[in-house]
Amino acid sequence: STQIQLINRPVGWPTQDDFRTVAVELPDLAGDQVRVVNEFTSVDPYMRGRMNDVKSYIPPFVLGETMTGGAVGRVVESTADTHPVGSVVVHDLGWRDMAQGDASAFRVVKEIPGVPVSAYLGILGMTGLTAYVGLMHIAHLKPGESVFISGAAGAVGTAAGQIARLEGASRVIGSAGSAEKVALLSDRYGYDVALDYKTAPIREQLLGVAGDGIDVYFDNVGGDHLEAALAAMRNGGRAALCGAIAGYNSTERVPGPDNMMNIISRGLTLQGFTLGNYTHFFPEFAAKMGPWLASGDVVHDETVVDGIENSVDAFLQLMRGGNVGKMLVKVA
Ligand code: NDP
Repeated sequence: STQIQLINRPVGWPTQDDFRTVAVELPDLAGDQVRVVNEFTSVDPYMRGRMNDVKSYIPPFVLGETMTGGAVGRVVESTADTHPVGSVVVHDLGWRDMAQGDASAFRVVKEIPGVPVSAYLGILGMTGLTAYVGLMHIAHLKPGESVFISGAAGAVGTAAGQIARLEGASRVIGSAGSAEKVALLSDRYGYDVALDYKTAPIREQLLGVAGDGIDVYFDNVGGDHLEAALAAMRNGGRAALCGAIAGYNSTERVPGPDNMMNIISRGLTLQGFTLGNYTHFFPEFAAKMGPWLASGDVVHDETVVDGIENSVDAFLQLMRGGNVGKMLVKVA
């Protein structure tokens, strides 16, 4: 099996030299185990945090071990009745072309006609659920409210914009980092207003379009975007703090909001969340997202890099904004 391992803890931006590719001989299966050929593996911003040796809500990656993370593949050998050969499985063993181990570490999922299995790593998986939980159960979006979503063209952001609209938001504003992405936000993902944060300060741009203000802010970026949202919020607004990617590769302090007073004067609620504590919402989410996908009410896009050996490239492209929708590695 070809596997990618972290060998140094990056300072600032990771480089290829922080990783190595190894060939690993897989042992014969023991009882109740499976061998899986991966079809897609996931690269995600949270992985940057796990490359640091700091305690967080998930432990750091272990140096010299294979990178873990979401993956979807097919069982090719099995000693477990629950996981017959040919089943599609989702697991968390990450950056390798083949995975094997106890069947309990692999979740069998059904193949949905017309939906690629890669969707289980995005719109029907972690990033889709994150968008749903953040909007509905952290920010408590109500029909008729106006919403601002940063990182709007990414995996979480494209899902969040569409979910907000389907759940009755009156106006959905998004921000992203290029003219192409901004066009997609309007034309494909149903955003009412789309802002390119690279062309002018996001705070000025948001205040220019926010009208009488935003009720809900879904934060994927932090820093200047959180500051912009605080300036534009209406009384009683809520913000779901999902990510702060503006600072993930920075060695300097990211400028923070200078207007936290708005939290007091406008009676705002800013709540952070990590999806791991909210996975019980999966059935509720799946019951809505399945029909939305089938009817075409929700579209989902992927940016796919070919070859497990290009996993590091895929991760770096993700952090630089080289993706629309979910960034994935196609293994085979
Ligand atoms: P995305 O698909 O959104 O990819 C990351 C995007 O971040 C890039 O495409 C890039 O888009 C944008 N970006 C990078 N640097 C900056 C910057 N300095 N300022 C503004 N935007 C930037 O990734 P995901 O959808 O997987 O994740 C989105 C966010 O959600 C991340 O912050 C992640 O950590 C968080 N997250 C949190 C979870 C939780 O449980 N709390 C679970 C899952 C994700 P652009 O071209 O627009 O700059």
